[in-house]
Amino acid sequence: MQYDVIIAGGGMVGSTLACLLGKAGKRVAVLEAHEPPPFSPADPYDLRVSAISRASQRALAQAGAWEGVVARRACAYEVMQVWDATGDGEIRFDAADLGEPDLGHIVENRMIQLALLDAIRALDGVDLYCPDKLAAFTVDETSVSVTLDSGKTLQAELLVGADGAQSKVRQLAGIGLETNDYGQKGLVCVVQAELPHQETAWQRFMPTGPLAFLPLGDGSCSIVWTLPADRADAMVQKSEADFCLELAAALDHRLGGITAVGERAAFSLRGRHAEPYIQERLALVGDAAHTIHPLAGQGVNLGIKDALELANQLVRASGDLGSEKVLRAYERARRGDNVLTQKAMEGFRLLFCNTLTPWKILRNSGLSIMNRMGFLKYEIAKKAMGI
Ligand SMILES: Cc1cc2nc3c(=O)[nH]c(=O)nc-3n(C[C@H](O)[C@H](O)[C@H](O)COP(=O)(O)OP(=O)(O)OC[C@H]3O[C@@H](n4cnc5c(N)ncnc54)[C@H](O)[C@@H]3O)c2cc1C
Repeated sequence: MQYDVIIAGGGMVGSTLACLLGKAGKRVAVLEAHEPPPFSPADPYDLRVSAISRASQRALAQAGAWEGVVARRACAYEVMQVWDATGDGEIRFDAADLGEPDLGHIVENRMIQLALLDAIRALDGVDLYCPDKLAAFTVDETSVSVTLDSGKTLQAELLVGADGAQSKVRQLAGIGLETNDYGQKGLVCVVQAELPHQETAWQRFMPTGPLAFLPLGDGSCSIVWTLPADRADAMVQKSEADFCLELAAALDHRLGGITAVGERAAFSLRGRHAEPYIQERLALVGDAAHTIHPLAGQGVNLGIKDALELANQLVRASGDLGSEKVLRAYERARRGDNVLTQKAMEGFRLLFCNTLTPWKILRNSGLSIMNRMGFLKYEIAKKAMGI
């Protein structure tokens, strides 16, 4: 089978890219290892959710998937409240002050992937191979040839690795990876609090790491609690009663007590950056190219920006889609933003973990001053929203 582009990985980023290219008339093959379970409104909320920025919402709409996301489940949040556990520093972002209906949406990753896979299936030029996996590939002067686990062989001008943090494409290509093990895990679960979440994303920074409560449509919250790895594992094992007590205290009882908690899981947190993103007839996007600390919920938003940029370059290109010129333009456009965001998150993490008094004063007064500086505060909010 001959395609313009083969995308290994039909997760949120790879599927966005496939839709954008398919809508522009490209012939695309998407290889996805796992078919996500279909959605039923009675399903309990999934463990993995993402804070989707306005820019990502627009990209998903352009890909033909946003309607499908909203038709399943998405919760708009209007306020973001961030404070420091070691002082009185606090900052509040309110969509109303920006003249916007919301600051973004909290969406289960599966809802985004399902909506994108529906959009892919509706496109004539895009073939989905699922469940199937990229097993190997070879590159020659004019094409890349990909072998799947099923034994099928596909050819294209370009192979895109959108196969996540453990990218097989990246490994087979021998692309190097700069890594930074944060020694932390992100504990995730869905909880019910005594008080309503008020369509607010709550985030408290503690020296051990931030705790986020993200609002969901049924009044419950999805939490991401960053902890030292051994403490996160211990919290996963705790009795429900003890966990609820510790969690309510960690959020400073802002939402009262915690009355119910679902299944808990903890994910290792590691910063990664591929060097380079591109090789002959090959490009990496999303987590295959970079992973960042989830403290500002920007990981998939960066990946969707990669997909948009690569799609733009490929649609604009005249001639060979795997040419160095096209791929270099993609890497040039995206690396700076990804590195800057990754380093900024690492800087925030170090700033908020520091227990020395001068740093405590600096961050608490910094938060309070910024909270009063409307212009600067809303420039930051607009940057995070991608508007
Ligand atoms: C605790 C936590 C909280 C987070 N919260 C946020 C948040 O609020 N906001 C945000 O923007 N980001 C968040 N992130 C980051 C976000 O989850 C990732 O950035 C995002 O999932 C990356 O999407 P992706 O499509 O690049 O990769 P993935 O989601 O990993 O998708 C890769 C896909 O490739 C498939 N695949 C793998 N290997 C192969 C193969 N060989 N052949 C074919 N298919 C293959 C997999 O099945 C998968 O579907 C968070 C991360 C963590 C750990």
